[in-house]
Amino acid sequence: MTIKKNVYENTVHQFNKAADIMKLDADVRKILSCSTNEITVNFPAIMDDGQVRIFTSYRVQHNNALGPYKGGIRYHPRVDINEVRALATWMTWKTAITDIPFGGAKGGIKIDPSEYSISELERITRRYTFALGSNIGPEYDIPAPDVNTNPQIMAWILDTYLSMMPPQERQRCYHVVTGKPVELGGSIGRNKATGQGTVFIIERWAKDHDFDLNSCTYFVQGFGNVGSWAARLMKLHSSKLLAVEDATGAIFNQDGIDPDDLYAYAIKHRGISDYPKAKMIDHKSFMSTTADIFIPAALENQINADTAPLLDVKLVAEGANGPTDTDGDTILQEKGINLLPDVLCNAGGVVVSYFEWLQNKRSEFWDLDEVDSKLRRIMNNSYARVLDAVDAYHVDWRTAACIVALSRLEKVYKGRGIFP
Ligand code: GLU
Repeated sequence: MTIKKNVYENTVHQFNKAADIMKLDADVRKILSCSTNEITVNFPAIMDDGQVRIFTSYRVQHNNALGPYKGGIRYHPRVDINEVRALATWMTWKTAITDIPFGGAKGGIKIDPSEYSISELERITRRYTFALGSNIGPEYDIPAPDVNTNPQIMAWILDTYLSMMPPQERQRCYHVVTGKPVELGGSIGRNKATGQGTVFIIERWAKDHDFDLNSCTYFVQGFGNVGSWAARLMKLHSSKLLAVEDATGAIFNQDGIDPDDLYAYAIKHRGISDYPKAKMIDHKSFMSTTADIFIPAALENQINADTAPLLDVKLVAEGANGPTDTDGDTILQEKGINLLPDVLCNAGGVVVSYFEWLQNKRSEFWDLDEVDSKLRRIMNNSYARVLDAVDAYHVDWRTAACIVALSRLEKVYKGRGIFP
């Protein structure tokens, strides 16, 4: 799995295409074509051997016209300002499409977390949080998990942030970060939320297309939070998982792979490689898997000029952010492959983050039925908004999703005007 080019170029292309077609107001276009704040911090952390190492980190706050900045934090060696900028921009669109009262942001540390011990990761996370200081806040900018970050890391962010507050302020700041462990103010259902939202959107698509999910086949790229949950939730339909790829390799079994069994194996062996109930295949064979649905749930630019021609599926449901580049998009359209774009399909994570934020603010605890039914309603409404734009503008789904977001933001800017 490789990232070939600057992913922000895809974002700019998507933005310009949608803005041209919907004739976005020229001044609003200027505002939305760049991020509001871009913070780069190089910070030190002490390693287990006592040495100090310097880490490069980012927080890009793209836009907060609809509410506080919101978006995850990624730990990955390929994190750079362009990637974080792209991801922050997509968050602005995602929160607008789902109509939740947040803007868009994203953060990241350029780091391979597998090279560090748990206590080093804790010190790195705490020092990053300290470095961000008042650039984050429960009503200002609210981080969450993303690639290679998890509820434990959110707990360290919470604890560090609260420790920097005066004692009397602490109890009312639990919503400074979402995706926390449930015992520490997290929401039930947040952990599976991105995968769950993806499956809700696939179900909605299947209903519209008279497509039977019970007899369908699918394959998944990435077996982290999003990929593993999407795969496991698809199992409830008795759909058959044919192939999976993660950073350690790709596996295939024509008779189907049990996602729960694979999940247990992947946790134990830190990856899917050498899973005994499937055979190892190469990346090209993986991308050529004949199936009904492909769920990319790993990194950006995976569906590109080289790999899009290989795809033999009816539907691509983007669990990852930015898995398809602009060449990939064109090729999928030429091949007549349906595409459910990231900013719609993977929005379940931030939607349940919103639920967590609300529960913290109101000192409430919702049960799983409440979380899931509210999530399903928001995902279905978002799908319907994008479908309306597909019909109104006669455009592809990605462009339609972007048009929905830009139209909503345009209304806010036109209504409020530009100060002074
Ligand atoms: N990182 C997730 C995303 O890309 C979730 C963001 C959030 O919950 O704020 O949508």
